[in-house]
Amino acid sequence: MWTPLRQNVLRIKLRHAAQAFAGQGWAVTPGGYFNGQRMACDRPTCWASSCHPLLPDWEAATTLLGGWWDHKPHSVLLPTGRTFNAMEVPALIGSSVRGIGGPVMITPNGRWIFLISPGTPLREELEARDDIVHHGPGSWIAAPPTVLPEGTVRWLISPRQVGWQLPDSGEAQRAVLSALVALDASFLDCPADGRAVHIIMRQSPVEAALRRAS
Ligand SMILES: [Zn+2]
Repeated sequence: MWTPLRQNVLRIKLRHAAQAFAGQGWAVTPGGYFNGQRMACDRPTCWASSCHPLLPDWEAATTLLGGWWDHKPHSVLLPTGRTFNAMEVPALIGSSVRGIGGPVMITPNGRWIFLISPGTPLREELEARDDIVHHGPGSWIAAPPTVLPEGTVRWLISPRQVGWQLPDSGEAQRAVLSALVALDASFLDCPADGRAVHIIMRQSPVEAALRRAS
């Protein structure tokens, strides 16, 4: 049941989360809140049903805490392309990725979102895929513990667990590419360096040492 008490507990958790992000210099902006039916924002002219920024000029603002979480459990949106970018992949791929080492969130509709360093475009092999979304400048992600109609966004690995460090985008992308190759033999038409990365990543330290010694 989506009771007022539950909404209130959520609102306080969201406010704490927003404050923690802002405390690290991350841009934060409020989004609609789940009212039991849709992501409402109480603007009379807005009929958006999915998660969306509350303020039309959210891109211009850096951090907007204000009193947004004083009354409603607004979603906590993190604009990307500033302190970090985000790489969003299906759960099957996300759970196969090894060794990225940064914050990872999981959405209630089964998307894994890796936070990575900003400034690097998505490499061609990943860009070509419809199931991988790269959030850079002009985009945003809904952070835990935002509640969407489908359920709650949660951390698999929180920024605090990794000391608020972000992995290098290039390395993270190579790790995703390796996971894709490992998952799908039909991905062998990917460029040769993608396969090479896979082989290198699969090599254990012992194998690598033996290879160097031979
Ligand atoms: Zn709205």
